[in-house]
Amino acid sequence: MITIKQQLCGQCGLCPGVCPVQALVLHAWVLEVDGKKCTGCGQCVTVCPTGALTLKT
Ligand code: SF4
Ligand code: SF4
Repeated sequence: MITIKQQLCGQCGLCPGVCPVQALVLHAWVLEVDGKKCTGCGQCVTVCPTGALTLKT
């Protein structure tokens, strides 16, 4: 499951673009993750330039 540090997220839109299951959605000013979709692949953590995403196992 991915957790989002909202204070670090710059809403750049990179992570929704790499998520293979569309678990990340960038709403107007807030990134949200759908925990039921997320497979824990970690691709979004790798692509985030600000370290806003953490993978918890
Ligand atoms: S860990 Fe993988 S499946 Fe989960 S939100 Fe990130 S890119 Fe999507
Ligand atoms: S890649 Fe990082 S900074 Fe960009 S929208 Fe996702 S969490 Fe926010």
